[in-house]
Amino acid sequence: MARKHVNLGRAPAKVDLPSKVCEACRRPFTWRRRWARDWASVRYCSDRCRDGRP
Ligand SMILES: [Zn+2]
Repeated sequence: MARKHVNLGRAPAKVDLPSKVCEACRRPFTWRRRWARDWASVRYCSDRCRDGRP
């Protein structure tokens, strides 16, 4: 049997980062380091969405 190491109910190596849905494009986006200080007030995924213009 060539059974490789299986992940048995263990959390993935990646940290589960918080996420939100952009109010402009309705797309989910995850926490970024640049938002570390004001994540609570972040509502858009990018500067473009925050401007509300393409
Ligand atoms: Zn967006």
